[in-house]
Amino acid sequence: MPKKALSCHICQSKKLHKFLSLGPIPLANSFLPPAQLSATEPYYPLDVCFCSNCGLVQLAQVIAPEIMFKDYAYLTGHIRADESPLRRACRECYSEV
Ligand SMILES: [Zn+2]
Repeated sequence: MPKKALSCHICQSKKLHKFLSLGPIPLANSFLPPAQLSATEPYYPLDVCFCSNCGLVQLAQVIAPEIMFKDYAYLTGHIRADESPLRRACRECYSEV
C-alpha cells in the first residue's frame, strides 16, 4: 500500500495541498506477463499535490521503490539523451538526401 506523503519531497514543509485526483490506476510501465493477465492488477491512487512553501507539484502518495521498479519497462540505455529530437530529425533528413 502506498504511503501518504506527509511532507514536501524538496523543502520538507507540511503545507501540501491536494488539487488533482485521477483515481486508482495501475503502475505506469508495469506490464503483466502473459501468465498473469487474468489476475487482478494492483491499483494505486494517483493524487497530485502542491507545496505552498516551495511550489513543487508532486505525487501525494509514495510507492515503495521495490514495488515501483520491480518490473519497470523504462530502460534509460535505450534513450539517446545526447541528441535532441530536432537534431535527430535533421540527421535523418540529411541521410536520405
Ligand atoms: Zn516544498
